[in-house]
Amino acid sequence: MESARSAKHWVTTFNLYSAPGGEAPTLNGVTAAFDMTRDQLAEALGDEPAYRTDQVWRQLWERGTWPEAMTDLPRQLREQLAKVITPALREVARSESRDKTVKWLWELPDGARIETVLMIYPGRATVCVSSQAGCAMACSFCATGQSGFTRHLTTGEIVEQVVAARAAAAPRRLGNVVFMGMGEPLANYDRTWGAVERIHDHLGISARHITVSTVGVVAGIRRLAQEDLPVNLAVSLHAARDELRNRIVPLNRRYPLSVLMGACSEYAAAKNRRLSFEWALIDGVNDTAQDAAELAELALPLGAHVNVIPLNPTPGYLGRGTPPDGVRAFCGYLMAHGVNATVRANRGTDIDAACGQLAANAGGRRPRTDAGLAIPAAAREALGEPVSRPGRKGATLK
Ligand code: SF4
Repeated sequence: MESARSAKHWVTTFNLYSAPGGEAPTLNGVTAAFDMTRDQLAEALGDEPAYRTDQVWRQLWERGTWPEAMTDLPRQLREQLAKVITPALREVARSESRDKTVKWLWELPDGARIETVLMIYPGRATVCVSSQAGCAMACSFCATGQSGFTRHLTTGEIVEQVVAARAAAAPRRLGNVVFMGMGEPLANYDRTWGAVERIHDHLGISARHITVSTVGVVAGIRRLAQEDLPVNLAVSLHAARDELRNRIVPLNRRYPLSVLMGACSEYAAAKNRRLSFEWALIDGVNDTAQDAAELAELALPLGAHVNVIPLNPTPGYLGRGTPPDGVRAFCGYLMAHGVNATVRANRGTDIDAACGQLAANAGGRRPRTDAGLAIPAAAREALGEPVSRPGRKGATLK
């Protein structure tokens, strides 16, 4: 009987596999549950009858049930499965804000930490997932960028955040998934896209309710345009002239606005999906009438929706959010010039769960301004560009 197999056999079986997107981090040789394909699960179940695969798969994906609680399986099989189907996320802390926003701090098998945010609305919920531990892009105002890059997440580590949020949101329906947490999703393209497909195929959330954000990884936007699933694209713009954007978003030096807008236009044409521009409004930096006029000039031809978010405070950035009058004036200008614009309500600010505030308690942040940043070496690596460092050969992270 398969249920009599030793734990050693099961672990050995799983060591044969690597998760989609490459070498998944493992804990004692065990692959994260949501990195497994159905075939890998069937293989691991060995001589068990074929229906067991469906049984375990359904419990895991449809109900988020872990093996210990799969009470319709024989006890010995449950115990064996529990050794190889393990959560990738260990809850370190969970906080709930006054507006019911929930933020998790998770620890991954190798000790890296990430955050996930669940936003509750009447009758529905949206989860904001991380795609990397830390971020290499170094946007000046962002707490994640201030803490540096640790590593890419695997597909399963991204998916598991959605599964956990779905359980916490119940009985409300988890209707939307946004890739706007820690990290630049398109710098971790294969694993991000693997997660999109699994969220769509196995968790039943339609592509139209999945939003992938990017700070402007043009190569990734072009790949996205070739994919079958028409996800929403949100571009974190924050400035509409190169001189300013170079300072706020260092990646702009690699992909200037003319190139970025070209890729956005290709995506909108290929997918017929709404494009949105995210704009963190920073007092005295990007909130003038000139900024609004430049933004309108970019948004109008693309039919882009603009989400304005007054900058949330982070310990590592000296700028502050534009006061309410300035926010109203900025949006008023956009709307008066035909741009579809919304002021995004800040949710979870009191628990540091709002946009730009996720930092996974990484520490080591220093207050800074947005002046004079080159593209960081880690960002160039994350984009697949060779970077030489003393004592180290050029390497890529993709
Ligand atoms: S805004 Fe996004 S891309 Fe920029 S540093 Fe923060 S997480 Fe990374």
